[in-house]
Amino acid sequence: MTKQTETITATQLTHDSQLADIKLYINGEFVPASSNETFENKNPFTNRPINQVASGTSDDIDRAVTAAKAAFKGEWGRLKLKDRLVYVNRIADLIDEHIDEIAPLESLDTGLPIHQTKKMVARAAQNFRFYAEMVSSRLTGDAYQVDDEFLNYTVHKPVGVAGLITPWNAPFMLETWKIAPALATGNTVVLKPAEWSPLTANRLAEIIDKADLPKGVFNVVHGFGETAGAALVAHPDAPLISFTGETKTGSEIMKNGADPLKRFSMELGGKSPIIVFDDCDVDRAIDACTWGIFSFNGERCTANSRLFIHENLYDTFVEQLIDRVKNIRVGDPLDDKTQVGPLIHTDHYENVKRYLGIAEEEGARVISGYVDETYADGNFVPPTLLLDVNNKMTVAQEEIFGPVMSVMTFKDEQEVVEMANDVRYGLAGYVWTNDMKRGHRVAQAVDAGMMWVNSQNVRDLRTPFGGSKHSGIGREGGYYAFEFYTEIQVVHVALSDHPIPQFGKEKRI
Ligand code: NAD
Repeated sequence: MTKQTETITATQLTHDSQLADIKLYINGEFVPASSNETFENKNPFTNRPINQVASGTSDDIDRAVTAAKAAFKGEWGRLKLKDRLVYVNRIADLIDEHIDEIAPLESLDTGLPIHQTKKMVARAAQNFRFYAEMVSSRLTGDAYQVDDEFLNYTVHKPVGVAGLITPWNAPFMLETWKIAPALATGNTVVLKPAEWSPLTANRLAEIIDKADLPKGVFNVVHGFGETAGAALVAHPDAPLISFTGETKTGSEIMKNGADPLKRFSMELGGKSPIIVFDDCDVDRAIDACTWGIFSFNGERCTANSRLFIHENLYDTFVEQLIDRVKNIRVGDPLDDKTQVGPLIHTDHYENVKRYLGIAEEEGARVISGYVDETYADGNFVPPTLLLDVNNKMTVAQEEIFGPVMSVMTFKDEQEVVEMANDVRYGLAGYVWTNDMKRGHRVAQAVDAGMMWVNSQNVRDLRTPFGGSKHSGIGREGGYYAFEFYTEIQVVHVALSDHPIPQFGKEKRI
């Protein structure tokens, strides 16, 4: 076994690598938790320990928020915009330089296939570049010159300490999706990453340390949601909480943050429909269905976990889907050829298996792909189709968050829109048809924050990202993120001596 400390290259990293233990990053230093407690981080492919992680406490959160507040009031707050953005671009450059080492770390920690984590890490670098550019070009106020009496204008100001709480699916990408706009707009950050995927958050702290940001601008407190996460939500000096995770956690966080009256951004769960009409390009629709549910091991908020196929197409479409599912390459996440890897954690694996049991109890037909028996130590759930499902079943209503797609059929547009909307989530949706009038119509009729027509989840960073109903509150992405990360102030300036009522100027008696 090799003991690694910092830099790990793709060729060095194996499932036998034992990595250095992870500390918190507070005020520019790597420190143990105040309690000295740690928790074990496991490899989902082997279920063997990778390393120990410092378990942050409310005291650690307090130290991190205090450091972030001091940096906001101090050096970082005084930087000129162009100087601040030099740091943001430097982080992007450093991530780009280390893609070949961050991607395997992410795959080792999460079980996500390496060909997918390489793209996610590249996207993470783009997030920083994109927001550096966006802040210089689009973070502009409005001017209202009413007449020659007044000039009124707005300015966007950073808010302060941004508390960022993130999930374990695509952790590095999702963390940077929040950190980049927070820093570019001038806030400072306390990140509480998910406890099941700490490796790349720690690597990011090392990278940001190398980028030489002023102390306290960026802090990472590892630990559990109920302790470190809850303490960040409750801390009076962190006015912003950007959360991505499960709907029930989001709701709990909003309750706990009500008293300190925080500003929240909520990116929550999904149960997104993919609607396939009989006039579509069938080959491309099959590609989209399989990629959309089985990429990222199905642990994807925008996964198309409910498939609706027009009745004329149902039999042939399902036959091809089954063929695809049986041929998906399930295996080692560090192998470039792997398409689906192990799920993040044994608890999550048990939960996904529980849903497969419920599917059978409710009368669904379970058709699964192939997992080699040599992978018995990992958290492998084979790619699975649930046939004979109706939209009222548990497996059509609840987020499973694994490589499992519920398949249903429909007769006409009205029926499918009703079924698509008959769910508590509203994150994303997909429509496949060659009738573009219908494509637009159905896309707009589905209650979801994001819709794709004849496409699969291709992100344009300028567009808003987020969901409706129980899938979220607010939008990230593009300049929409500015609404969350900045305070808008209006300044009213008199251009002439306009009349002001003269209370008390005349003698009362
Ligand atoms: P989770 O809600 O269990 O945990 C997310 C984060 O919240 C973790 O860091 C956790 O430690 C923390 N946390 C837990 N309880 C907390 C509390 N009481 N106070 C403060 N923090 C707390 O979610 P998960 O299982 O890590 O992630 C999967 C979920 O995330 C899925 O539902 C998925 O759909 C959702 N997700 C949504 C989006 C989106 O953009 N809408 C993107 C990715 C994932």
